[in-house]
Amino acid sequence: MNFHVLTLFPEMIQQGVNTSITGRAVNNGIIGLNTINIRDYAGNKYGQVDDYPYGGGAGMVMQAGPVYRSYEMVVKEIGYNPRVIYLTPQGKVFNQNMAEEFSKEKNLVFLCGHYEGIDERVLDMIVTDRVSIGDYVLTGGELPSMVMIDAISRLIPGVLSNDVSAEFETFHDNLLEYPQYTRPEEFMGQKVPSILLSGNHAKVNQWRREQSILRTIENRPDLMKDAKLTEEDINFIKTLDK
Ligand code: SAM
Repeated sequence: MNFHVLTLFPEMIQQGVNTSITGRAVNNGIIGLNTINIRDYAGNKYGQVDDYPYGGGAGMVMQAGPVYRSYEMVVKEIGYNPRVIYLTPQGKVFNQNMAEEFSKEKNLVFLCGHYEGIDERVLDMIVTDRVSIGDYVLTGGELPSMVMIDAISRLIPGVLSNDVSAEFETFHDNLLEYPQYTRPEEFMGQKVPSILLSGNHAKVNQWRREQSILRTIENRPDLMKDAKLTEEDINFIKTLDK
C-alpha cells in the first residue's frame, strides 16, 4: 500500500506517519509514504497557491491548478487514476468499515485542504471519495489524513507485530472491546477480575464477550442495531432485561 499525500505541509505528515508503528512499517517497506508539496506546483515564482473567493466572503481558497498538477504527478508515477480522498468536514464520516475497504487499495491519494477549502472544479475532476473525521472543523486536512493513514495501515498484514490484535478489538462485530488488565494483580486495592486468572479459556472468552456487549449497550447503544450477535449473545442480553 502506498499513501500519496497532496498537502501544503508535507513535514507535518512525514513527522506523524514516520513515528511509532506506522514509522516502522514505512522503514520495513510494508507501506510507502509519498508526500507531495502542492506549493511546488504553484506555477508562479511567488509560490502562491490560494486566492480570494469569487463572490466575496472571508478567507482564501486553494486554486485548482496547483492541486491538479500535483495530482497529475502521482498519476504519472503509478500509471493509472487512483482513488483520491478529499478530507472535508462535508464528507461521509470515517469509520472502521471504510478503513477496511480502503486497506484493499494498492495506492491511495489524500488531498488536504487548507484555508476555506479548495476550488470545487478540481475536486469534481479528481476526487473519488469525500471523507470527514468528525463533525467539527479543523484548520487543515493533514491531521485527518494522518488519522486515516493510521487506521488503514494497521489493517495491512505485517504492520502490527501480532496480526490477531487488529482482529478482535473495538468495532469487530460492531461491538466495543472488553476491558483489558495487566500486572500487577492488585492496584491500589483494585483486583483484576478473578475469571481472567482462572486459566479457563472458554470462560474467559465468554466473560469478554459479555463485557463487550455491556460496554456497547452503555457507551455506544447506536452500534447495537448492526452488531453481529450469536444466539448466546442474544440470550445474555435477555438476562439483562430481567
Ligand atoms: N470552509 C470549509 C467548510 O465549511 O466546509 C472548511 C475548511 S477547513 C477550515 C480547511 C480544511 O481542513 C478543509 O478543506 C479540509 O481539508 C480540512 N478539514 C477540516 N475539518 C475537517 C474534518 N472534520 N474532516 C476532514 N477534513 C477536515
